[in-house]
Amino acid sequence: MVRPGRLSDLTLKDYREPVIEFSCRRCDRHGSLERKLLVKAFGADVSFAVLRRRMAMGCERMQAPESDKCGARFPCLGDTDGPDGSQA
Ligand SMILES: [Zn+2]
Repeated sequence: MVRPGRLSDLTLKDYREPVIEFSCRRCDRHGSLERKLLVKAFGADVSFAVLRRRMAMGCERMQAPESDKCGARFPCLGDTDGPDGSQA
């Protein structure tokens, strides 16, 4: 059961699709990841907020010291934009 919301509240345990899509519109990057590989690497309790950070490694905008400027998100989770999915 996937409920759009804060990425920090959503873990791999909550998401059951075999493939997780990832994209960063600002960096023009996107791809898909196998859920089971992510579980293996990070554990089923890892939150999507943490995964997002991981996925954005190598993204210049994410590395900006002042703030998180990367547009990385998981389209498959719905409209959860921003670092923690909050719609400020
Ligand atoms: Zn990015």
